[in-house]
Amino acid sequence: MIWRILLVIGALTFLANGCSILSDEDCNSVDIGGQRRAISVTCHRSPNAGEFSQGTAGTLGIVIGLGMITLAAWPLIQNARYNRQSNYVGSTYSSYTSPRTEQPPPNPPPPPPPKTNVCSSCERRLEGHEKFCGHCGTKTT
Ligand SMILES: [Zn+2]
Repeated sequence: MIWRILLVIGALTFLANGCSILSDEDCNSVDIGGQRRAISVTCHRSPNAGEFSQGTAGTLGIVIGLGMITLAAWPLIQNARYNRQSNYVGSTYSSYTSPRTEQPPPNPPPPPPPKTNVCSSCERRLEGHEKFCGHCGTKTT
């Protein structure tokens, strides 16, 4: 964003001019001239020689400079606001959704293990279809 850099440079120029005008004792009136990008400030010792008074020209320069800085920084301010908002929304969002998203999808119930019955009396292994233990005759459960 080259225009932003130019804007800041211009703003600093305005600020510097404004400050120097206000702090210059010989600058009792000011002519502001120049072309679009190169602003030239001419100080006059006589209060009536220049187009602007010292206070008007100095304040004008500072106000314009601050305005240009604000303009240059405005997208950054907007971004900062947007980021803060989206961070807030994001954290809220993730705190609400993380219990859901972090859990694995529900697994289908595991298939029942093959039925292995053991005779409660003699501990002989029984086939699933056996109703009575072939060894001791105990009824299977
Ligand atoms: Zn048995």
